[in-house]
Amino acid sequence: MAKKQDKPQNIFNFDYSRDSQDRPPQEYYDQIKEKFAEERDLRLDYRPPGTDSYTSDLTGELAKYATDPYGQQVEERERLNDSVEVLFIGGGFSALLTSARLREKGVESIRIVERGADVGGTWYWNRYPGVACDVVAYDYLPLLDETGYVPSRHYAGGQEIYQYCKTIAERFDLYDLAVFGTTVTSTVWDEEEEVWLVGTDRGDSIRARFVVCANGTLSKPKLAKIDGIETFGGHSFHTSRWDYEYTGDNLQNLADKRVGIIGTGASAVQAIPELAKASKELYVFQRTPSSIDVRDDWETDPEWAAGLESGWQAQRRARAIEGPRVPDAVKAKRAAMSREEKIQRQENANIDAMMRIHKRIDEVVQDPQTAESLKPWYMLMCKRPCFHNEYLPSFNRPNVTLVDTKGEGISQINAAGPEFDGKQYELDVLIYATGFEVQQTGIYNQIIGEDGQDLNIKYSDGIRTLLGIHSHGYPNLFIMGGYQAFFAFNLTDVLNSQGEHIAECIDFVRQNEIHSLDCTYDAEERWVQEVIAHRGKTSRNRDCTPGYYNFEGAENRRQDGNYNGTMKQYLDHMSEIRDKMSEHFAFTHR
Ligand code: NDP
Repeated sequence: MAKKQDKPQNIFNFDYSRDSQDRPPQEYYDQIKEKFAEERDLRLDYRPPGTDSYTSDLTGELAKYATDPYGQQVEERERLNDSVEVLFIGGGFSALLTSARLREKGVESIRIVERGADVGGTWYWNRYPGVACDVVAYDYLPLLDETGYVPSRHYAGGQEIYQYCKTIAERFDLYDLAVFGTTVTSTVWDEEEEVWLVGTDRGDSIRARFVVCANGTLSKPKLAKIDGIETFGGHSFHTSRWDYEYTGDNLQNLADKRVGIIGTGASAVQAIPELAKASKELYVFQRTPSSIDVRDDWETDPEWAAGLESGWQAQRRARAIEGPRVPDAVKAKRAAMSREEKIQRQENANIDAMMRIHKRIDEVVQDPQTAESLKPWYMLMCKRPCFHNEYLPSFNRPNVTLVDTKGEGISQINAAGPEFDGKQYELDVLIYATGFEVQQTGIYNQIIGEDGQDLNIKYSDGIRTLLGIHSHGYPNLFIMGGYQAFFAFNLTDVLNSQGEHIAECIDFVRQNEIHSLDCTYDAEERWVQEVIAHRGKTSRNRDCTPGYYNFEGAENRRQDGNYNGTMKQYLDHMSEIRDKMSEHFAFTHR
């Protein structure tokens, strides 16, 4: 019998082919869809278009929201003026995974340049109370076959993941050349020398033959643009820069504090239960509720762990990429359905899932009005689905108040705290759980390729890449976790494949006495068209409530997003491209 540890995570594969006598009539589903549309329109009406309601320009008075509260140990050092073979911008999973693959291929000179004071990326920065990952740890933590590590729980906590990142860095000797507390500010292709010149905020000037943009998809904290944000007289910080000096390691200093938190996305959902237990009073300022499902978590069974055979994670991954086995009868039934019927059945199944989430809220939350406010009115996966067993019960505590802004959001803060609907909320501390800038390749960095072209300028008419990894005119540069690549709930799956691909490309160059490789214009154009062909198959993006998954409701250009084929198709494209390198890349020799 399959053990519970072996079961794949199945969040949004609805079995829409099942017929059920108990299904409500179609009008029931249509009415709910109408309510979804009303709630979306309400939110779109309140906001400026797209991402304009946020700022990630955290400078001047807002600079404190981006400074590193954990990195005091970063030491002064001499400016670097040297050369390395491969330079990683960022030291999170992208860099760790790819470096491991490069080490396996004999690449010695690898330097990670990281803004934080250690490796870990998102797991370095996000240390808020309750931080954990909702992707099954046996799949999320990469390189388990290589390191021999077995996660302690079904869902690993942030601390464990951060420690594991350090384990990988040690195991693959990545600390030797790494520099921390350092932000790459410019990456310029020297056409004569055919190397990248990398500048940093510490005055370094590093030459690198290969550069990998491993700066993550959600790296830079953003704030909602709220009038008076800088006038607040209490203490405030962003969830990804948790101020434990203020709260105390166990939040013990909050026992006499009035605490507010703005935002109810995945970070807030994990932090709120801890804040609810520790604060004298907690005010949760909600614009749109998250969907909260059951979190099926448990400690790893030591017997299961002891019985794992070598290569177990790779086998798990291969099974995940293949996807669930669909019986022939179900396949035949689906094949016989029209496209419209398929979409309708999928939507109805999605609505059933959301109504199950609503029902759970009614069962758990005692105050009917609060329960109503916590109900998400959109399709599952319009926003990042959340899983928590303590979040909803937190709202039964007498010290916790949900301030439901009904889609409007907080738009005014003064010295005492936020103001909403004529009511002043007086706070000692205000925490911004307002998320991150999404998928900006440059982040803090300017990337200048051949003919002096800035990558942002190239992208200004639409993103152009091959596989989301290569961009024509930027030789020996690789982008990880960016748009036009496949998106998976388990991000490390994508990063793993990209890391393998990049290591293969670098190895190809090294083995064939090539100096540099650049994807051709034609190969890039074919990929852009492939991305476009897979986008917009449904009106889902437009129908969803605004959030970062759909560019906050902005009409986006058709190529500016993820590759919407399957993971398997993405991997097949990768290997086809590598099988015929000279059809897709131009090479230089020195
Ligand atoms: P999000 O971008 O998901 O959430 C931002 C929140 O701020 C939203 O609830 C948004 O409301 C709210 N907001 C913005 N402006 C205002 C305002 N003026 N007034 C009130 N509320 C406002 O950021 P998170 O940090 O929560 O999550 C980012 C991502 O990080 C997740 O989607 C996930 O991919 C990852 N993550 C994963 C975790 C996991 O594995 N469990 C845990 C934490 C993060 P609205 O919805 O209306 O826009």
